[in-house]
Amino acid sequence: MATVLRNVRVFDGEGFTEARDVAIDGGLIAEGAGPDAEVVDGAGGYLVPGFIDCHIHLAGPHTQELLVAAGVTTGLDMSSPAPLVNAMRGRVGVTDIRAAMMAMSSPASAHAQRMKDIPAAQEALVAGPADAEAAVSRRVDQGADYLKIVIDLPGFEQEDVDALVAAAHAHGLRTVAHASRWDAVAIAETAGIDVLTHAPLDRPIDGAQAERFAAAGTVIVPTLTMMKGIIDRVNPAGGPGPTYAPARESVRAMHAAGVPILAGTDANETPAAPASPPFGTSLHDELELLVEAGLTPVEALRSATSVAAQHFGLDDRGAIAHGLRADLVLLDTDPTIDIAATRSIRGVWLAGDRVADHA
Ligand SMILES: [Zn+2]
Repeated sequence: MATVLRNVRVFDGEGFTEARDVAIDGGLIAEGAGPDAEVVDGAGGYLVPGFIDCHIHLAGPHTQELLVAAGVTTGLDMSSPAPLVNAMRGRVGVTDIRAAMMAMSSPASAHAQRMKDIPAAQEALVAGPADAEAAVSRRVDQGADYLKIVIDLPGFEQEDVDALVAAAHAHGLRTVAHASRWDAVAIAETAGIDVLTHAPLDRPIDGAQAERFAAAGTVIVPTLTMMKGIIDRVNPAGGPGPTYAPARESVRAMHAAGVPILAGTDANETPAAPASPPFGTSLHDELELLVEAGLTPVEALRSATSVAAQHFGLDDRGAIAHGLRADLVLLDTDPTIDIAATRSIRGVWLAGDRVADHA
């Protein structure tokens, strides 16, 4: 069904255009739509690309409904069992999913201990470099879109991560490293990880290190929502002990160095997780935290749209341009003035179909 969104201001990656029409045909943004197209009055609203959450953990089919209702039209899972992922990837009319399948972790890590009752987590344990190729091949066979590696101390040694990255790259997979401590970030850097996720809570990434990441082409999904959630849980009164500041300072340094920042929340409903940001709405929390950490509202919008798409190879989405998927969110107010306006959702289109009516 073809649709024309009439009288909408369009996010072009730099700001919003004057109000105009946007045509949708065959699930894609089109040059025009025929005379039979349904016309939707956008009433001067603000049209942005559907949001991409670059770090989630699927909890079941309801996950996709929650995500799309909040305008998140693509979700990148960062560790879930392959059968769960594959059951959800086949569903139409809901958030599109990409996945790592289960993240690789060391049997020596606290992460592995927390996951010890989950059979799929046992399958994801990699004891040493000699096991890396077989482990990565299993992920390729399962249909993984990228490889996730949990760098936890104690846990993987440098040589383990090096071997996993080499095996993943040999199979053409990007590598994503869980690194929530500074020493894990250092291992990730040496191993040539493509995507860092989380931001260290013990010691910030400094300017010189950020410059090296920029030169290497590394990107970061800092999951500030998760890092803040952890601190709110372990040090709620803000007394002596860990604080959120190193995570924010890390983002500030990476942003200043020109490292691409991607929006991701770590949304989950996993009982053993250190915090559980809610699906969908937490993406809006993340955008606010990214702005608080120094991104402009336009940069924050890009972090959840074009920049996210670019660095995960999602070439068919992330912008409002002819031929791209018509994953769209219509807002009442201008998010480049106040990023909180991403919550003022009036409508969501997923591959051209209106999936939620917020009117
Ligand atoms: Zn996670």
